[in-house]
Parts: sequence; C-alpha cells; structure tokens
Amino acid sequence: MKDIDYAAPKTLAEAVALLDGKGDRARVLAGGTDLIVQVREGRRDIDVMVDVKRIPDLTRLTVDANGLRIGAATPCCDIYEHPEVKKSYPGLVDAAFLIGGIQIQSRASLGGNLCNSSPAGDAIPALIALGAVCVIAGPKGERELPVESFCVSPGRNALARGELLAAIKISAPRTGSGAAYLRFIPRNEMDIAVVGVGVSVVLDAAKSKVVAARIGLGAVAPTPLLVKDAADALVGTTADDAAVENAASLAQAAAKPISDMRGDADYRKHLVAVLVKRTLAIALERARKS
Ligand SMILES: Cc1cc2nc3c(=O)[nH]c(=O)nc-3n(C[C@H](O)[C@H](O)[C@H](O)COP(=O)(O)OP(=O)(O)OC[C@H]3O[C@@H](n4cnc5c(N)ncnc54)[C@H](O)[C@@H]3O)c2cc1C
Repeated sequence: MKDIDYAAPKTLAEAVALLDGKGDRARVLAGGTDLIVQVREGRRDIDVMVDVKRIPDLTRLTVDANGLRIGAATPCCDIYEHPEVKKSYPGLVDAAFLIGGIQIQSRASLGGNLCNSSPAGDAIPALIALGAVCVIAGPKGERELPVESFCVSPGRNALARGELLAAIKISAPRTGSGAAYLRFIPRNEMDIAVVGVGVSVVLDAAKSKVVAARIGLGAVAPTPLLVKDAADALVGTTADDAAVENAASLAQAAAKPISDMRGDADYRKHLVAVLVKRTLAIALERARKS
C-alpha cells in the first residue's frame, strides 16, 4: 500500500475545502470498512483520506418530533442502540443491525454505506422505504436529495467535486406506520445481499386500509430502486392476499438483476417476490401495533 496522507478537519468548511482542492485524489474516511479495504487492494487510488469523524455534526444523532437526523459518519451501533430510534424507526434498525458483525457495526456508518453506492448496500433500500433525504454539503453550500436519487451507477453517486454527505434526514413516522428491511444471503450472516427489500406502510385510523406505502429494492439493478408502482398498488387496499401478490409481482417486474456467483437473474427475481411479501408482512404487523 503506498503512503497516503491523512487529514482530520474539525469543521465541515475545512473538509469541503480539502475535498474541493484535491478532487478525486481525496476520499472521505468515515468508518473505513469499505474505503480501507478498497485502497489496500489497489481498487481505489487516492492521495489523501479526509477523516470526518472529528466534525461534531457528522457523528451526531438527533431525534425530535420532526424526525431523525443522523450525522453521515455515525456508526451503526449508535443508531440501533438509541432507545428512540429502536422504538420509532425499527425498519432502519433492521438494516443497521445486519451490516457486518459487531466490530464492523462499531465503525461502519450509514453515510459510508450510501456513499459507497453499492447496488447491494443494505442501508439503502431501508432508507428509500423510509423516504430518507441526503443532506449534502459542498463549496456552494448545502443541498438536499432524496436517497433514491443519490446512487447513479454501481459505486458512483450524485456527489460533485468538493461535496460530502453531511447527514441523512428521516421524517417522524406518521400514526399507524410500520417499516421493515429484510435481505437474502446464502449464509447466516456477514455476506452481501442477493436481494434486499425495505418496506414502509401507513395504515388508516382503523388500522385496516393502507394509506401510503414505499418499497425499496437492493441488489437487483445497477442502483437501489424505489418501486413506486408496486407500493402505490397497495394504497386503498387492506393488504389482502390479492393486493400483496399484485404488489410483489409489480416489484418483480421492476427488478432488472444480473446473474453472478451469488445467484442468477431468475433466482433474484423469484426472491424479490418472496421478500416483498415477507417484509410487507412485518411492516404491516408493526403498523398495526404502533
Ligand atoms: C467484514 C465486512 C462485512 C460487511 N458487511 C456488510 C453488510 O452486511 N452489508 C453492507 O451493506 N455492507 C457491508 N460491508 C461494507 C461496509 O461495512 C458498509 O458499506 C459500511 O456501511 C461502510 O461504512 P463506512 O463508514 O465504513 O464507510 P467508509 O469505508 O469510510 O466509506 C465508504 C465510501 O463512502 C465514502 N464516504 C463515506 N462517508 C462519506 C461522506 N460522509 N461523504 C462522502 N463520501 C463518503 C468514502 O470515501 C468511501 O468511498 C461489510 C464490510 C466488511 C469489511
């Protein structure tokens, strides 16, 4: 591994200036669980790592009546151990809890998962389902982008020169809402998703009809997907068997997977329908109990 400079700015403005000055020769370092592996293996050639964990806002998690704001470098364990997050955002906890094992979760951030922009990143379909928004800081100030628009191709995202992901925002769950994330992997743990599905639903006051829904899919296209048709098909129904089958087959139709060593395209399509039904069942159960 060649020598690489290390910078640890204490403010967002300093970090932005460093990234802007070095362009694609610099990369943000959050937990390093993707970046350090990629640099060591020679898959990423850079001159400087910009460690953002000393910028207080980047590791700060706040929950209030408006919702949740997660500093982009906040480690997964701080997310799933937070009592308010556990209570109100179980669909996010599902994803944060299965990224790697305990050691990885103590370092790895949701921001890193998102910025690594793998089609199979576990946090991304869960964030899409929750309607999460990226807060991006850069030389021209701050801008916001829905998570479903952030990844643009495998390993690439919408960040421009000098920009970094500062935080992820999620609105407070409406009454009667529930969310969940499930993935399929060939082993029990520590593997890359063959398919990942995030679902969120909102039920009416009688906890009977679906009034809103979102479905995110991972590992079935060059980027994680928001499958709007499939989610919209649930709205106005009681999520009876026919409605669930319909949503599952619409999600299946939207999936455009490749075949690789983890599973062929037909298998992945099959899994999309299975996982949409299972994830939806958990989200509905949580919504009924909320
Ligand atoms: C053993 C092991 C198991 C794993 N298991 C899983 C798994 O089950 N599921 C899964 O999805 N992933 C898994 N991963 C991959 C990795 O842990 C996750 O993607 C993790 O969330 C990355 O977060 P990080 O903070 O470590 O990112 P880093 O490695 O620090 O960064 C990742 C990339 O994003 C960029 N970046 C990070 N933060 C920002 C920011 N704020 N703004 C701009 N760019 C930024 C970096 O420059 C880098 O290119 C695993 C990795 C290992 C080593």
